[in-house]
Amino acid sequence: MLIRARFLKNPQKDLIKDPIIWIKEGKIQEIAFKEKLSSQAKADPKQIDFPGILYPGLINAHAHLELSHLQALTYPGSFCRWIEKILVAKSKFPSSQKVFEKGFALSLKGGTTTIGEHFSLDSPPEAWLHSPLRARIFGEVLGLKQELANLLYQVALSLKPVFKQNPKIFFTPSPHSVHALEAETLFKILKEENNLLSLHLAESQAEDQYFKEKTGEMADFIELRGSALKRQASSAIQELKQRWRGNLLVVHGNYLDQEDFDLIQSHGNVIVHCPLSHAYFAHQAFPLKETQKRKIPVALGTDSLSSASSLSMLEVMRSMKTNFAFLSLEEIFTMATLHGAKGLDLSGQVGEVICGGYADLIALKTEESLNQKTALEKLFKAKQVDWVMVNGEIQNHYLNQDEL
Ligand SMILES: [Zn+2]
Repeated sequence: MLIRARFLKNPQKDLIKDPIIWIKEGKIQEIAFKEKLSSQAKADPKQIDFPGILYPGLINAHAHLELSHLQALTYPGSFCRWIEKILVAKSKFPSSQKVFEKGFALSLKGGTTTIGEHFSLDSPPEAWLHSPLRARIFGEVLGLKQELANLLYQVALSLKPVFKQNPKIFFTPSPHSVHALEAETLFKILKEENNLLSLHLAESQAEDQYFKEKTGEMADFIELRGSALKRQASSAIQELKQRWRGNLLVVHGNYLDQEDFDLIQSHGNVIVHCPLSHAYFAHQAFPLKETQKRKIPVALGTDSLSSASSLSMLEVMRSMKTNFAFLSLEEIFTMATLHGAKGLDLSGQVGEVICGGYADLIALKTEESLNQKTALEKLFKAKQVDWVMVNGEIQNHYLNQDEL
């Protein structure tokens, strides 16, 4: 398929005028101007003229689409009471294929084409087998008793061949976090699963207090669920110090110590910041300046609709500009594309429109003559995208769906 558009804006690159993109077998084969296209590309019978600007699809590096039906839960004022509230709501209103479909539609409308999804092992996987999104799915292993934790790990392992049916999905069993998983199973997964793992780390003040003081609401919550185990280290990240490695995605990182930063910086990990759920929980300020000082890449995520007001990455980018006015639009766009790709271990495949990369694109219609600056302003102002493609397939029918 040949796509002609008015402009193309890649992160950290100059605006390209009148690009022509040749797509074959889900990947970008050539990006050129008309006269420079190969004769093979020119002969492609399927050609589209898009009257607007193309961007690479955005990357939502952390979500739980299975909670897309649990919107507008009021915050009970404490992190552990919120977890209890979610557990009750989940058992009362279990997730379904329809819930995931809603999550897919809202994600695509908001510009996401690749997602880092934390998946509860009691959720139905069927919706993902036909997912329009590209996804890294982390089968969440948790449990404070070894028997349950190990059982859930086995369930996660059994899902590997199921998710393999969709070539757009990379599935890995992954610890939900350090505090929610019994230590032996946690260390076993770190040893056996060499792919990227994604863990909630240093998310809440309650978790911080649990590791630092071995007391507080998280300690009580954990003890009540049958674990008397007290953590040795002063943080979740330090608990993994001997096993720390580069391909661990640090989800949240709101309460990081200097030693945690040292470990993250020296191993080249990416931190995912979710500004909408961060505001919901009223966490302490995200340490963005420290990440910049240390050149630690920050990717962006929505988290779930049970704590975030939106699944739109356009909304997430806008809130970054509001919260951190000193950031340029280009820096925020880079977080939502290149850093997301790095965070999900998909660099060179998604997050930029390049030859050999996946044909995951979003677009906005425009008749204006755009420049470097206005091309990004247009994206940051957009309520939703006008056109979306994942793996070379146009998915616009999701954009017209009313919320399910
Ligand atoms: Zn999460």
